[in-house]
Amino acid sequence: MNKKFKYINIDLGIIEAKIPIIEIGKKNLKKSLAITCCIHGNETSSLYIIRNMLQNIKDNKLNGYVKIILISNPIAAFFNSRCSPKDIQDMNRVVPGNNNGTITERICRCILNEILSCDYYIDIHEWSLHSLLQGIIVENNSENIKKISSEMLTVFNPDIVTTLSSKYVHSMYGFLNERKNIPGFVIELSSDTIYDNIKEERVVKSLINVLRYLKISNQEEKIDKKNYVVIGDVNRYVAQKSGLFFPEKKVGDEIKKGEKIGFILDLDLETKEILYNEENTGLIIQLAMKKMINAGDLIYIVSKNEI
Ligand SMILES: [Zn+2]
Repeated sequence: MNKKFKYINIDLGIIEAKIPIIEIGKKNLKKSLAITCCIHGNETSSLYIIRNMLQNIKDNKLNGYVKIILISNPIAAFFNSRCSPKDIQDMNRVVPGNNNGTITERICRCILNEILSCDYYIDIHEWSLHSLLQGIIVENNSENIKKISSEMLTVFNPDIVTTLSSKYVHSMYGFLNERKNIPGFVIELSSDTIYDNIKEERVVKSLINVLRYLKISNQEEKIDKKNYVVIGDVNRYVAQKSGLFFPEKKVGDEIKKGEKIGFILDLDLETKEILYNEENTGLIIQLAMKKMINAGDLIYIVSKNEI
């Protein structure tokens, strides 16, 4: 495969940040896609997805160019944390960044410039809980950009789709989509995607099909197509105390109002607090697995719209 690897170095005074980038195909070919991973430094499942995708892309079917920015937030990734501990700024809220600003803002601007040379953009993230495969687009005044983004997302075939308002314009994807008219979408992976071959394969094949839609590749992968569910508002349930969480539902289950979702076992390891879905009937789109939880931890998210 025509594959290149390089680091882009960003001088930060007494240290240097390094951005690893893989490029496949030929740059001078018209169709180009940028993919970013690890804008949040601890969301590293995307790297395994990319590795799998690169192993499965057939070189002779490739007739475009893909630039993959593997570690978009190297300082945060070095600390295995969402944001850089240096300035605690969320890179996905400070776009377009600033060459003379904080460390996160400087790196952000560099990443933005790397993406700007491409025609399309996909940003891969990851939830901290088990979740449905989610695709996200933002509102865009250009009907054409919105149409291409939606079509890309339909080809990707996630379980659920959310359309964010233009207040997300300071996310990397929001800025590029709304201000720079670069079509694309955001992927939110489930935290268990890369521990489950079927889930991982589905994401990889769906990404290859997006390359086909964009005419970057002629390769087509067979997937079980099903219609995604559009998610509007959600209800989030946050733990009120410490204890052991025992889920009794699965991600993707519909849960009725008043139905049991699991329980929290007190640290006396005897007293149970049953958790009921207090709000409306909806789809469980995120759910914690068995683990020790603390007050303030997110346990589950249920869609507000009935399905
Ligand atoms: Zn993220």
